[in-house]
Amino acid sequence: MESVCRGNSTVGSNPTLSATPSSNKSSGIPGPPPSNAHILFSRRIVPNGSSKQGMKRLTSILLFALFLQASIAQEALQTEAGSPQVSYRNGTIAEGTDWETRFYISDSGKPGPTVLIIGGMHGNEPAGSRAAEQILHWPIVSGKLVVVPRANVLALAANKRLIPGQPRGSGDLNRNFPQSHTSSATEVSPRGQPAAALWGFATKVQPDWVLDLHEGYEFHRSHKPPDGKKKSVGSSIIYRGGPELDPLAKRVVAAADATVTDPAKRFSLLRRGPVDSGLARACINVMGAEAVILETTFKDQPMALRTRQHRAMANVILNHIGLINSDCTDHQDQDLKSGIEPIMLQPEITPRFP
Ligand SMILES: [Zn+2]
Repeated sequence: MESVCRGNSTVGSNPTLSATPSSNKSSGIPGPPPSNAHILFSRRIVPNGSSKQGMKRLTSILLFALFLQASIAQEALQTEAGSPQVSYRNGTIAEGTDWETRFYISDSGKPGPTVLIIGGMHGNEPAGSRAAEQILHWPIVSGKLVVVPRANVLALAANKRLIPGQPRGSGDLNRNFPQSHTSSATEVSPRGQPAAALWGFATKVQPDWVLDLHEGYEFHRSHKPPDGKKKSVGSSIIYRGGPELDPLAKRVVAAADATVTDPAKRFSLLRRGPVDSGLARACINVMGAEAVILETTFKDQPMALRTRQHRAMANVILNHIGLINSDCTDHQDQDLKSGIEPIMLQPEITPRFP
């Protein structure tokens, strides 16, 4: 859900990108991220020249290093037999930190837009994460699809909107991205290390389009929020209104509305554009990307419906810009020919599909 709030401290960070798999951790904000990926390759090995055992050990280590290198190369670039032109890559953002998270890249090898899809920016909005996990398997026909399904792993693990343990005012990950309208991403700073890591990744990706998947707690922005609570934007697409995107946004809403029968649960067009200091807005301002926020509602709706609404909306946009050329809303790719392993949200935050 998007609602405006912001703080004002700035913390530098040095995000790391790696193609090495690792598991997500679940608590605490540690110090600077260790960089351990290179250690295996930089450690000096001094054999005992007079010892056969030493030579044996050296040989074993060299063989292990070769094996390791081959494994990493295999993970870094996997090609599906049926679609030789599409290559797949995945890795970890901010590896070694408590907020490290996986990314997945499908590259068609053909000209086209680079699309960045983000899920799980707010930890109590798991349908965005789940939908992103599904969308990353979609068969692209042009451009490049980059997916970060669990942007805010700490908050997702806690099932909270905010990053646990962060100072008040800076816990909302999607209010920590650069607000400056400068033309160079290096001239602006995100706030806090988790945002810095994501921002560092986004600036490397240089997306043409960003789809940021969220959820609200009420169906329509016309609701009256409880005391002390900010208004929910409701089920909606938040985009920059104008002749260029209005027709597309209407089709996005129509696709989402096809999943609901109750008129009170219909989706809204919010033409004001993504919230300032959010990742989507920062990608618009700094990189000149187009970006939208897609919102479903977690109130009284099963996860299966909410993820379907996200997929239905993403399907319209990705077809419109040519990344896919078929209806992928219900695309299933459980055999995972792409080589991309399925990732599961933690059971306590992901109700079973009904
Ligand atoms: Zn949200």
